Amino acid sequence: MSETVATVPSVEDEEKIRAIASQMRRVIELLGLDLSDANLTETPERVAKMYLEMFRGLAEGAEPNITFFPNDERYTAMIIEKDIPFYSLCSHHFVPFYGHAHLAYIPNDKIVGLSKMSRIVEFYARRPQLQERLTEQVAGFLAEKLSPQGVMVVVEARHLCVEMRGVKKPGALTVTSAIRGIFFNRPVREEFLDLLNRRR
Ligand SMILES: [Zn+2]
Repeated sequence: MSETVATVPSVEDEEKIRAIASQMRRVIELLGLDLSDANLTETPERVAKMYLEMFRGLAEGAEPNITFFPNDERYTAMIIEKDIPFYSLCSHHFVPFYGHAHLAYIPNDKIVGLSKMSRIVEFYARRPQLQERLTEQVAGFLAEKLSPQGVMVVVEARHLCVEMRGVKKPGALTVTSAIRGIFFNRPVREEFLDLLNRRR
């Protein structure tokens, strides 16, 4: 997959990295940590770069340029792309949540390349995010761009802010779903869920 990832940071990014790193240095000091420790010296810059990378979905022009194809075969059954892996940071703690997204749609006039489905998920994952919103945004994008008969998105994820701290529930899986159009019909929804569960 040819994704354009800026390897050389722009001038604007360089400035941001410097500004974030200087604040991060202050945070590390306030935590009483020793910035002269070899493992911490470069941490402010590393954290700054990581945030820019993880939040790349918010950058201008980050929306994936997706080609749609005419549905010449008049395919009217369900198209499913399941087990799309993703990593995101929760808006509340800036701690990872990660898992898999499963996308299904029933087309009208347009279809989308299967590999593009994961680009859409990644675009919405690369920002401070809530699992509920991620799920809705992916469904909304497909609904808007494809005008299909219907869309359903299921996301299963583990949230490190839940597992590592606070209530500490290791291994808990959070499941969310978003529905558009024909998937509001129970048999259609169940067909998708059956196909999802089949290999497990
Ligand atoms: Zn959180």
